[in-house]
Amino acid sequence: MSVDDVVIVGAGHAGVQTAVTLRKRGFEGRISLVGADDEVPYQRPPLSKTYLEALVGGEGALGGLLDLQPESAYEKLRVHLLRGREVTALDRDRRLVHTSDGEELRYDKLVLATGARPRTLDPPEEVSDRVVHLRTKSDTERLARLVGPGAKVAVLGGGFIGLEAASVLSRLGVEVQVFDNAPRVLNRGLSTRMADHLVEQHRRNGVSIHTDWSLERVTTGEHRPVALFSDRGDGYECDLVLTGIGVLPETGLARAAGLTVDDGVVVDGSLRTSDGDIYAIGDCARFPSDRSTGGSLRLESVQNATEQAKHVGNAIATGQDGEYESVPTFWTEHWGLRVQMAGIVEPGDELVVSGEPDEGAFSVLAFRHGRLVAVESVDRPIDHLSARRILGDRENLPSARDLDAYEYDLTAWSKRSRESSVREVVGRT
Ligand code: NAP
Repeated sequence: MSVDDVVIVGAGHAGVQTAVTLRKRGFEGRISLVGADDEVPYQRPPLSKTYLEALVGGEGALGGLLDLQPESAYEKLRVHLLRGREVTALDRDRRLVHTSDGEELRYDKLVLATGARPRTLDPPEEVSDRVVHLRTKSDTERLARLVGPGAKVAVLGGGFIGLEAASVLSRLGVEVQVFDNAPRVLNRGLSTRMADHLVEQHRRNGVSIHTDWSLERVTTGEHRPVALFSDRGDGYECDLVLTGIGVLPETGLARAAGLTVDDGVVVDGSLRTSDGDIYAIGDCARFPSDRSTGGSLRLESVQNATEQAKHVGNAIATGQDGEYESVPTFWTEHWGLRVQMAGIVEPGDELVVSGEPDEGAFSVLAFRHGRLVAVESVDRPIDHLSARRILGDRENLPSARDLDAYEYDLTAWSKRSRESSVREVVGRT
């Protein structure tokens, strides 16, 4: 079947990259890219880092620096960008997408890149304008309008959003306290060792972190506009509550259209949903992966969104579906420390530290069933690059003993193992 019309639902990192890859790989048909945000599609990582810092620090809105592509690029790429429009329903029998303004878009192939939406609190009306979350550009702009030096902010949720924002705001003179209901913060996606290191940086810089702290209610305060109370009765008054309490995959459309959904739109190894003409990618997609003990993953990261988009754009343009495989990577920044992660860490993994945490440059290596599965690095970009290379070679993952022989120097091990495989090939020739 020839593919004339591709519709992409969601104009974030995954959606935009799909459109770009389709054109790069020679697709000549019509591409419609539908996004709910009014803005030109933009990058998300800066929203809790440099963008927040620029706005609160008074540098201004950074112009179009956040744009994923310059506005003019969509016309050049012949991508029909529909901004500020929501897709309200999919009609799989007639291969139609219905949008909020009554438009119908025909598709031969459909890509769901619908992302995720923040979990939110439901505060009482009198304080609702003082409780913000951070997912879109306008969320960051709203947060920045409400805080300044001397303000008191309660961050609810000690994940990446909460702690990245805590580091930026605190550096700019805002008093920040973090409250998390889990026994430790950064409990998703980071090893206990690396999480402890980052918590130490936050504490040293004056950010108070409260764990095992369950929110009982939000109300108006006596001395500040808002008060938070835990189920143990202790309270904290502040000017603003920033929630970073996780996200939920946007699966409503897929579910209503009868596609298989299970904490994400379920896709096969080629990223196709239970309807072979519909793909799902990025934060909303659950894909098979033996990098996870559970056998599948749903990743909330830009690298995952971008790589999956390239895979699907290529598959549609060439008509050839292949198996998707990529080493998951992430990065985060706190107090000037840049942490790079490769692979997936799970509770129970055996951890080995290489380097000197006290001197600020080190890596945490995670082993599962005796094999390397993930590496987290602070100020060791070479370790990160080597880790990506090593973890990409699924058949030859080193054991702790293999790496011990090289004093856990990933680059030396990787170089050595490449040299030995080159010798093999030369031998056979
Ligand atoms: P997150 O990483 O899932 O962290 C949320 C934290 O909030 C968890 O520790 C959670 O504990 C806690 N929590 C949940 N409900 C709570 C409540 N009512 N009171 C107090 N604590 C509560 O989510 P996030 O920080 O909101 O980040 C949102 C998304 O953006 C994620 O997908 C994240 O990966 C992404 N992001 C990524 C980066 C990066 O890669 N550098 C940066 C920013 C954002 P429980 O687990 O016990 O519920």
